[in-house]
Amino acid sequence: MKKILVAGGAGFIGSHLIKRLLNESNYVICLDNFLTGQKENIIDFKNNFKLIKHDIINPIDIKVDEIYNLACPASPKQYFKYPIYTTKISVFGTLNLLELAAKYNAKYLQASTSEIYGDPLIHPQTEEYFGNVNPIGPRACYDEGKRCAETLCSDFKREKNLNIKIVRIFNTFGENMSKNDGRVISNFIIQALKNENLTIYGDGKQTRSFCYVDDLVNGLIKMMNSNYFGPINLGNPEEYTILEVAKKIIKLTNSKSKIIFLDALQDDPKLRKPNINKAKQLLNWSPEISFEEGLKKTISYFKGKI
Ligand code: UDP
Repeated sequence: MKKILVAGGAGFIGSHLIKRLLNESNYVICLDNFLTGQKENIIDFKNNFKLIKHDIINPIDIKVDEIYNLACPASPKQYFKYPIYTTKISVFGTLNLLELAAKYNAKYLQASTSEIYGDPLIHPQTEEYFGNVNPIGPRACYDEGKRCAETLCSDFKREKNLNIKIVRIFNTFGENMSKNDGRVISNFIIQALKNENLTIYGDGKQTRSFCYVDDLVNGLIKMMNSNYFGPINLGNPEEYTILEVAKKIIKLTNSKSKIIFLDALQDDPKLRKPNINKAKQLLNWSPEISFEEGLKKTISYFKGKI
């Protein structure tokens, strides 16, 4: 039985990952400081599961076979609220877990992000693109923190020859998203279900490509079990404008909501869509659940929450 550590395990993606790892007969240790993670996401896990309330900004010593590092505030609303902490956990947290991987020769997977491409000047984004990040803007705490984490991973691999993997996760959605994290999918679904105005930031012409969480988790596990360092993009290339997303959610929820336009966010990426050729070729991975199918599942989840 493999012993697997999931940092950020009470978060949205972490909790889905743990569920899958437990189903595949692993022993899972979940680390979370519950800054943005939620107890209810992990409440059902009992057998072969251990929760340690811990902030990876501080070192930890547990012998494990694999480490998934998903610990970080990940939605703009959250990292705008905790900018210094976000850089700290991205850099020191990653460093601490890499040291742990080095000590026990554990496999290590780093959850990086499409945000490392910033407001991209090439479209769709390939892994070779170095990105376009404003280092002093409000998103920089996350973007630069995660870029530095990729640097640490690369240097630990070069210097210590560890078995490290980097995945760049694009927008992901599904059950266990927090109601209050301010992401577009959770905001719009909750607004639509309450017949409140859907709040578009800017003109709504900016695009995103949304991956359902089960598909994403498949990709994470395939990457961990592969021999590749990466970085590899994981996301669903189905691309929509935010205005299209708003209309789709109003339709799927039969809502009476109207759409309103608020000020745009500073440095909000205008276009985002992953090129996933690498994931297809190297991992034999591609998303199987359409945006609409995923939205229906997510809408019924939020119906039970409000
Ligand atoms: N957005 C919006 N209204 C909201 C929340 C988000 O128009 O209530 C926009 C946001 O400005 C961005 C896109 O939706 O262009 C995706 O935002 P989200 O916070 O979900 O994730 P991001 O991709 O920015 O990390």
